[in-house]
Amino acid sequence: MNDLTKQDFEVNRLGKATLTSPLYREYKEDAPHKEFIEDSRRIIYDASLASFEEHKNNDIEPISFLKAGPRKEIYFDPSKTKAAIVTCGGLCPGINNVIRGLVNGLYYRYNVKNIWGVQYGYQGFISDYGHEMVKLSPNVVKDIHLFGGTILGSSRGRQEISAIVDTLERENINILFTIGGDGTLSGNHVIHEEIERRGLKIATAGIPKTIDNDVNFMTKTFGFDTAFTTAASIVRDAHNEATGAYNGVAIVKLMGRDSGFIAANAALAMPDVNFVLIPESKFDLYGDKGFLKTLAKRVEERHHALVVVAEGAGQHLFEEAEVVKDKSGNIKHQDIGVFLKDQITDYLKEQNMEATVKYIDPSYIIRSEVAIPADSVFCNDLALNAVHGAMAGITDFVVGRWHNQFTYLPIPVATASRKKIDVDGALWWSVLETTGQPIDMTND
Ligand code: ATP
Ligand code: MG
Repeated sequence: MNDLTKQDFEVNRLGKATLTSPLYREYKEDAPHKEFIEDSRRIIYDASLASFEEHKNNDIEPISFLKAGPRKEIYFDPSKTKAAIVTCGGLCPGINNVIRGLVNGLYYRYNVKNIWGVQYGYQGFISDYGHEMVKLSPNVVKDIHLFGGTILGSSRGRQEISAIVDTLERENINILFTIGGDGTLSGNHVIHEEIERRGLKIATAGIPKTIDNDVNFMTKTFGFDTAFTTAASIVRDAHNEATGAYNGVAIVKLMGRDSGFIAANAALAMPDVNFVLIPESKFDLYGDKGFLKTLAKRVEERHHALVVVAEGAGQHLFEEAEVVKDKSGNIKHQDIGVFLKDQITDYLKEQNMEATVKYIDPSYIIRSEVAIPADSVFCNDLALNAVHGAMAGITDFVVGRWHNQFTYLPIPVATASRKKIDVDGALWWSVLETTGQPIDMTND
């Protein structure tokens, strides 16, 4: 945030939007007061009065985001527009809802009938893989929100950007929608740069997909509500496992590579949790204030304990380990869940405590879950707003939500850094107060 300026939040445009939107034509008659969004409408980043006064006193314009929504004028002529959709990276609840929203928004709202699905992520652009593009229509997508996963398939691994843009050019695609995480969005940005270099008029729009809810400048990303809701019921089951045995300890590992939002929210939703371990808050295993001794004390007093750990927590405990990366270059974390299970088992044995330790890793079950209704609504809105932005000729952007309003952000600011839990902020303090775990489990 610190180094970003007002200019960094200005979205890129292919050119002036001069065509009357079919939505405007339709509403002008029947709903003349329907709101269309002017490009001067912006959502302020910091809504506090103190920030307002500081900016006013120093005569500085505050950081703000372009408001999303339908424009009166659009850039692309719907009858000549061809759109493509691609999904990359890991699964997240709601991807199919987003695909459905994009297809229906393009088809019914803008009369864009030429819509294609690119299969298996960015691989689908590379002819050597042989993944054909699939024609999409409301009929094809009508039931897909009833299933988890992505009907288009996904992949990881770098593909040649010039080959991707060659395909966009050859196939006469005007708008590319990318649904994916930071890798996909970084890919989207470099695709945009190559498009610009070639002087093409192709819009690229991203719908951020990160189950960890770790995108900056967005209150929430799609799939997150489903993820922690599903996680919460698994945490409840784990609590039953813990209380079902004398000195029962249950450990649930949840997603959260760098940010512990799922773990924190699942624990707040199911407040039987006694310890939440997240990447943002370091802890020691041993020593008087360390996790193992604190846990043993809890087990001794109450004869059961429930631990929720985010996958990226406690990575400092593996400092010696070799760094392993996946096909896309993401660092693969060491398995903190299995490690903790072994450490807890050994430690309690050393303390001569007869204990039963159970470990649950529900990650793939959660990732492939069907979106809950709140997420379905959110996915549909994100998709429609992505369509509005792209049709207006905005490019290299993502759709987000801030202060309950939909926004358009340039991809580079959305991927510049990750959103993390502020350990001095309200969310983490709620977790500490709900679990009763010590504020600090380090010895120095
Ligand atoms: P997840 O959150 O599941 O990791 P992701 O979108 O970050 O989702 P990745 O596998 O990291 O998933 O990336 C998706 C795709 O984007 C991969 O094919 C990857 O090679 C590509 N990609 C990532 N970064 C870039 C980049 N800078 N330039 C080009 N392609 C990239
Ligand atoms: Mg990634």
